[in-house]
Amino acid sequence: SDHSLDYPASPGAIDWSQHYPGHEGKAPEFADVGCGFGGLLIALAPQFPDTLMLGLEIRVQVSQYVHDRIQALRVTNGQDPTAYKNVSIVRANAMKFLPNYFAKHSLSSLFFLFPDPHFKSRKHKARIISPTLLAEYAYVLRPGGIVYTITDVKDLHEWMKAHLTAFPLFEPVDEETLRSEGRGNIVDAVYHSTEEGKKVENNKGDKWLACFRRIEVPRAR
Ligand code: SAM
Repeated sequence: SDHSLDYPASPGAIDWSQHYPGHEGKAPEFADVGCGFGGLLIALAPQFPDTLMLGLEIRVQVSQYVHDRIQALRVTNGQDPTAYKNVSIVRANAMKFLPNYFAKHSLSSLFFLFPDPHFKSRKHKARIISPTLLAEYAYVLRPGGIVYTITDVKDLHEWMKAHLTAFPLFEPVDEETLRSEGRGNIVDAVYHSTEEGKKVENNKGDKWLACFRRIEVPRAR
């Protein structure tokens, strides 16, 4: 349960300088929800050295592992005092407390990579993409920001796509468009850099990508 978790009362109550030494006055712009072992953000951190990135992971040991992994990368890359200082992790239940971490319109990228599928219908409310949560995601994302989803579970892909498409503050954006906008590195990392994505690759499984842009003016439905 969440009782042992300590949550910030609001994003303004967080001292991000503890997470991101040398980036005083900034807040995270990329959020990896259910980041697992951290592969995505660790791949992206050196590519976007001025962008702060935060992973959210609910499992204690896994979040501790990612924390230690980031610390180790900072040490082994010590000849560059800025290396990996733009990436951090919190242990958090992202389904309950995302707005406690991120201010309105503060994020430019939000990642849901290989989320737990919760196959049974009665468990669908446990899925990380749902109508209620989409309102929160639209709140923390700035207009123009992108939601990236990928999964090897076809049914979950259809579910995420359907809910995001139905939500008036998101519009589908295809891979080609993202690449033409200079987001190819991000798309590549989404496909290939996470531990779960590598597992799927080793098993020669399929991967379904679905991305959405947070728009300013709600679409008419
Ligand atoms: N995104 C990673 C990857 O692609 O390798 C991990 C995928 S793993 C299948 C799903 C992760 O989401 C698990 O590490 C799980 O602990 C985490 N998770 C599930 N529900 C969560 C929640 N409500 N808040 C934060 N993390 C959650």
